[in-house]
Amino acid sequence: MKNEFEIIETLARKRPSVLPKELLTDIGDDGAVIRQNSANDLVVTTDLLVEDVDFRREWFVPRLLGGKALAVSLSDAAAMGAKPLWSVTSIGLPKDVWQTDFVERFYEGWNETALKFGVTLVGGDISQTPDKIVVDSTVFGDVPHERAVTRSGAQNGDFIYVTGSLGGASGGLDLLESGLRFDAENAESPAQKLILRQLKPSPRVTEGLILRENDLATAMIDISDGLSSDLRHLCTASAVGARIFADLLPFDENLKNLEKDSARILKKALHGGEDFELLFTVKPSNAEKIEKLLPSAARIGEITAKSILLVTNDGEKDLTARGFRHF
Ligand code: ADP
Ligand code: MG
Repeated sequence: MKNEFEIIETLARKRPSVLPKELLTDIGDDGAVIRQNSANDLVVTTDLLVEDVDFRREWFVPRLLGGKALAVSLSDAAAMGAKPLWSVTSIGLPKDVWQTDFVERFYEGWNETALKFGVTLVGGDISQTPDKIVVDSTVFGDVPHERAVTRSGAQNGDFIYVTGSLGGASGGLDLLESGLRFDAENAESPAQKLILRQLKPSPRVTEGLILRENDLATAMIDISDGLSSDLRHLCTASAVGARIFADLLPFDENLKNLEKDSARILKKALHGGEDFELLFTVKPSNAEKIEKLLPSAARIGEITAKSILLVTNDGEKDLTARGFRHF
């Protein structure tokens, strides 16, 4: 069976051999970049959330699902260094859900996130599904002409950074799978903080804009599938390798509170999905600027000529991509 990346490659190849010259960054990045005029480019990105594949209904309250549906697309816009502006969001609902206050609550959460990031809903579609909830979230953003940050600009010797912390969303997923649920009354407990990393991701839009405005990132991707998978996407697009230092990974502090086994914490930080942090590369000469402008970003490794390696106290080994895949 073909995996999802082979399917995408096949459908991309079936398009006309000459694409419009306005298309600046094609299928394969976090968003497509389309020339609007001499000053600005448009960034378009879309995500599909399917119940029981991408989320479980019993984990979410509708408000959180609405917020997350928008946040995952904002994270892709952030990874392009774009300012998100507009959204078309479509929902497919089974009849029993339609008859509840799901839609009102969903859009409360959606609007809260939209307001925070200055995004306006300009359209969408609604349909009925036999029994599962489906959400299609598309975001349009703006970036100065030819300034979008792609996955493909990393060069040998660049430093690798990640915003925020890693592994928390995966820790939250484990807790949800073990039966624990979101509990607003207890939002400050380590377990609830992990659950919120899974249910209420914070897209790093501001960080993406700082990197782009200061021309600091040579390449960037958001971590949706997991560091090991998304680093591989960035390295493949840039035709480079990487060396990641396990000791430098910014493990989620709540994960450390709940999990004592350091090997399991490392595994979550390397392969756990949905942290929605930004992974980016920077020329060594700009390292000081990063420390000043984005002090919360951690330097976790360096770009090399080839091979993606993990350095631990036991030495170097291949960092195999073990992140999330649909097919
Ligand atoms: P991300 O995790 O950043 O949302 P994906 O892994 O979902 O990216 O997709 C990788 C690339 O493939 C993106 O550029 C995306 O637009 C493209 N892609 C995914 N599915 C399709 C599809 N059905 N048709 C065309 N392009 C697609
Ligand atoms: Mg992405």
